[in-house]
Amino acid sequence: MEEVEAKRLFQKLKIRTLLDLALILPSSYEDTRLASRIEPGRVQTFEAQVEDRRIRGGRMQVRFFLPALGRRISGQFFKATPYHQRLFEPGSRHIIHGKVSLFNGWPQIAQPRSLKEYGRIFPRYKTVLKESQMRALIENYVTERNLFAEGLQSEEVGLLMRLHFLERYSEAGAPPPQIEGEVVGQLKFIEAYNHLRKLRSKRHDYPALKALNRPIEPFVETLPFTLTPDQQKVIAEIQKDLSQKEKAARRMIIGDVGSGKTMVILAAAVMAGGDRSVLMAPTSILARQLYEEACKYLPRELKVALVMQGNSEGDYREADFIIGTHALLYLEDLPEAALVMVDEQHRFGTKQRALLEALVSQGERRPHYLQFSATPIPRTQAMMESELIDVSLITQTPFEKEIHSRVIGRSDFPELLRHIEKELEEDHQVLIVYPLVEESEQIPYQSIDEARGFWEKRYEGVYVTHGRDRNKEEILLEFREQGKILLATTVIEVGISLPRLTTIVIVGAERLGLATLHQLRGRVGRNGLKSWCFLYTNLQSSERLEKFCRTKSGFEIARLDLAYRDSGDIVDGTIQSGQKFRWLDLAEDEEIVRRAKERLNNGITE
Ligand code: ADP
Ligand code: MG
Repeated sequence: MEEVEAKRLFQKLKIRTLLDLALILPSSYEDTRLASRIEPGRVQTFEAQVEDRRIRGGRMQVRFFLPALGRRISGQFFKATPYHQRLFEPGSRHIIHGKVSLFNGWPQIAQPRSLKEYGRIFPRYKTVLKESQMRALIENYVTERNLFAEGLQSEEVGLLMRLHFLERYSEAGAPPPQIEGEVVGQLKFIEAYNHLRKLRSKRHDYPALKALNRPIEPFVETLPFTLTPDQQKVIAEIQKDLSQKEKAARRMIIGDVGSGKTMVILAAAVMAGGDRSVLMAPTSILARQLYEEACKYLPRELKVALVMQGNSEGDYREADFIIGTHALLYLEDLPEAALVMVDEQHRFGTKQRALLEALVSQGERRPHYLQFSATPIPRTQAMMESELIDVSLITQTPFEKEIHSRVIGRSDFPELLRHIEKELEEDHQVLIVYPLVEESEQIPYQSIDEARGFWEKRYEGVYVTHGRDRNKEEILLEFREQGKILLATTVIEVGISLPRLTTIVIVGAERLGLATLHQLRGRVGRNGLKSWCFLYTNLQSSERLEKFCRTKSGFEIARLDLAYRDSGDIVDGTIQSGQKFRWLDLAEDEEIVRRAKERLNNGITE
């Protein structure tokens, strides 16, 4: 097969690697070896001669004589085309193939095919390619030699060869390998290994603009608290990254809300010092918050500036540490920085991410690039992603939050009201999250518009906002100072901290992914106040929500989210999509991914 042709077929199959191809397994096997007796219920192949036939309407019934067996069998065609009629002329000889059944005690085959090639067991592939193209591709590329060259070991090679070339690689008459037990484990391994290799091949490293290694001890010593072990670990990883000049850092730091990522950001800014760093935040509230923290904790000699649309502070042209919103991306005279950081990376849109990417992707030398995210991903996924970008996880929080989570329903409503009133008396705040702003027939829960009358009539200080609300930042700031109850949709700010917020009620909680619920829950108890998270649902029971209530770690929740993907609960679309593995299960197969990674590290010398 010509290489160009193979390339075209690879594209058609939407695959890139040899192992991608080898992992497209036959969906079934076609046994075209001549049968020595008629066995109803099986798909069989016979040498046959057409004795006579009857055509009525579109139907054709053909009587075949099987010379080798000295028996007769009939073939039924329900829609006999002129082609069929010509093909099965009386007297013509065929190798017929199809599923044998009994009709009134007589053997027959429905829609028998006339084979050109026979005497073998052919794998059948269900792909967009023609069967013959697919077989040619497999024959050409899935060879023992190629599979070994990809780094597989003999058991894995043996398995793939038996699956694709059953006859050549099994004992005569042996059935195809069952995809179960150990075989599944091997396929999972190959899948993980292939995926890791693809990621690794996509990674390109560039030299850094500068090595950044100013000491951070003076900064750390003046902090009013000791850094958690995880904060220290991540800061050390970043120190190692930034002190290199040969390679610009590309690292994603993932930690739950409240795990103290800001201190890590500030420590990195200290390392960069006068070589300048830029920090981008998704909203102006968050940018200001970071700016205030930077001013509070960083050594005086580090000049900090804030850049936002409209109100900025300090002169960014002079600053060592420039904090801002995406307004930064549109500055024409943004000075070159040796370190670029993004906070709450998960909250930027695709367009902004592309702009950001452009900011750190120019020139032969690149700035060090650190991204911070509060969307925990399952540990196994983090292990995978770290092929493409280094990943640090912060799993501890500086102080254990006391949050009580509970699933509630309609009958708990009076109790919920009593709870809310008690909290309001203590000068605490309540957030109620509704699935929608306006009424909808599709959703069996109240919308904000339907519910607000109830709250406003009964309570003072009720505020309302939602994702598309232009004034949401002002409303949130006003609510923070003087509000009591906030009605909102899920899309409101994550970053702004509401220190007096102690209760969150999520209406229609089963409609949301666990990761989203976890983000929402992370908004209460920011300052260590005892807090509550109520998941309001019409469901009689939900194991998924109950498990959520018992789980605190965002990383474990990310794993549960994966594990419940196929569960009966409705989960918002974004989280369900994107499963790219056929066998591998990121929620369960940490060990397999670990082994695949080891193989990759041992097998390939760079
Ligand atoms: P994140 O950005 O990860 O959500 P923050 O950086 O905002 O979390 O930290 C949450 C709170 O914890 C802040 O009030 C911060 O000052 C505080 N904090 C951070 N690190 C520590 C620590 N090591 N000990 C005590 N408090 C800390
Ligand atoms: Mg933060």
